[in-house]
Formats: sequence, structure tokens, C-alpha cells
Amino acid sequence: MLKPKKPSPCILIVKEAFYLTPHMIRVVFTSPELASRPEGCEGANCKIFLPAVGQSADALLAQIADGPRPTVRTYTVRHFRKDVLELDIDFVAHGDEGPASAFAMAAKPGDFIGFRGPSDVKIKDFYADWYLVAADMSALPVASAALEAMPRDARGLAIFEVQTEADVQDIDMPAGVEVRWIIQEDPHVASVAQEAAIRATQLPKGVVQTCIAGESGVIKALRGFLSNETEIPKQDIYISGYWKIGLIEDEHQIQKKLDA
Ligand SMILES: Cc1cc2nc3c(=O)[nH]c(=O)nc-3n(C[C@H](O)[C@H](O)[C@H](O)COP(=O)(O)OP(=O)(O)OC[C@H]3O[C@@H](n4cnc5c(N)ncnc54)[C@H](O)[C@@H]3O)c2cc1C
Repeated sequence: MLKPKKPSPCILIVKEAFYLTPHMIRVVFTSPELASRPEGCEGANCKIFLPAVGQSADALLAQIADGPRPTVRTYTVRHFRKDVLELDIDFVAHGDEGPASAFAMAAKPGDFIGFRGPSDVKIKDFYADWYLVAADMSALPVASAALEAMPRDARGLAIFEVQTEADVQDIDMPAGVEVRWIIQEDPHVASVAQEAAIRATQLPKGVVQTCIAGESGVIKALRGFLSNETEIPKQDIYISGYWKIGLIEDEHQIQKKLDA
């Protein structure tokens, strides 16, 4: 069967932006174009295109279509309220050196971005006896969306790494999922805490599904552990490097292709 055609890139306008926690900014976007996006796309990733200084929305759209490629970054749909044409993206506030982080830190009503997506939702079917979820702050949106979508009788372990105690979020997760928050004050220092916590966990028998994402060094170690030291089949594993210490996203994407 032919897949439905993906909607064209569009402009999203900032409706509001606020700090959810000290290092996480929620930007609420709106646009009539959101009427063409599918409901239930929370946890899917999307591309955001950042306008150059002084660029108009029309000029940005034309540049997305005809090039040269504008500054583009990958993010996760955190919430989508199709009935009111609103879409939330949660941005890690990691400073001004990253254009996407800088955009979110300065975002105010009326600002705009280009938007392409969403892609398919990462985990659509939940059939495991036990779930292993692990995320740093960049992957809290995808992990939260997965936990919210799980059956309410799901069991498992969720390990989150955040910068401060105040960055802990309330997530609507099944009561049978144990949650642990690890504080890693400097995300630019390679962390081994998630790997240590996962290695120390006795994985139960039965079907295990994973939703794991975050800094690429951490992910590389976890991927090695899951594929070499556990028997979880590949199709039950979602694991992905979302950013890499010292690389901008374009460099990270090139690195990922070389490593694949
Ligand atoms: C599928 C997917 C989904 C993603 N979803 C989200 C999401 O919902 N929310 C989110 O915040 N991020 C998300 N990310 C990660 C995001 O794309 C990267 O963090 C991206 O590099 C941010 O762009 P930037 O312009 O802010 O920084 P860049 O210009 O790419 O990088 C500038 C510098 O900042 C560093 N840096 C990048 N990200 C971080 C970080 N999180 N913490 C500390 N330092 C960092 C880089 O190493 C580099 O030195 C996702 C990535 C992928 C692949």
C-alpha cells in the first residue's frame, strides 16, 4: 500500500514560551498548517529550520524549498493539540552557542520557525513484559511520550539524567514503572551513571522493550551492552544518539552515518 504523502514544510509561530524547569524550555507553536498533521504524533521527531536574522517567514520557506539549506535541527513533538492547532516542543536550554537552544531561550510570541514532520512515532506498539527507559534531558520528551502511551499495567524501569534536582519533571507513567533520577550537573562531562545503573539491573525474563536516547557517547556504550550482553532482539530495542559532546548537530549526523 502506498504511504500517504508527507505534508510540506510549513511555518510555525510561537504562541508562548516558558521555562518548564531551569534547563528545559517549552515552546508552544501554532499554525493553521497543523490541521494537516496526524493526531497522536507525540514522541515523533521533526525538523526545525531556524530563520537567519531579519529573514521573513516567506523567505525562510523559499530557502527550505530551494536552498541553500537553512540551519536545521532535530526535535521531538512533546504534545500536539490538533483541536486548537497547538504543538509543544521542549528545548534543553544548554546555552547560546547552539542556534536552537538560543532560539528557545529568546523565544517570544510571534517568533517563527520552519517545520517539517512529524516522522513516524518511534514506539507504536507496546507488547513487552518489562520496559527499560533511559534518557538524558534531550530525550526526556521522547521517553515521556513513550511512558504516557504505555498500557497502565506496564512494568519496568525508567532512568533519567538531569542537570539539577529542579529539572525533575512529573511524568504520567504506569505505577509499575520504577523511576530513578540521576543528577549530572555538567552534561559536557561524559557520564557513566546510566550505564552503571542499567548494568546493575537484573533484566527479567520475558519480552523486554527499550526506549533509550541521549548523548551519543552514553548511547554507544549502552548499545554495546544491549547487543553483546543481553538477548533482547533488535526489533525490541529503540536506542538513539540525540547529540554529542563537542559536535554541532550536522557534524553529529555525519559521525552517526560513518559509525553505522
Ligand atoms: C530524533 C531526535 C530528537 C531530539 N529531540 C530533542 C528534544 O525534543 N529536545 C531537545 O532539547 N533536544 C532534542 N534532540 C537533540 C537536539 O537535536 C540537539 O541537542 C541539537 O544539537 C541542539 O541544537 P543546538 O542548535 O541547540 O546546538 P548545536 O549547534 O547542535 O550544538 C552546539 C553545542 O552544544 C552542544 N549541545 C547540543 N545539544 C546539547 C544538549 N542537549 N546539552 C548540552 N549540550 C548540547 C553540542 O555538543 C555543541 O557543542 C533530539 C535529537 C534527535 C536526533
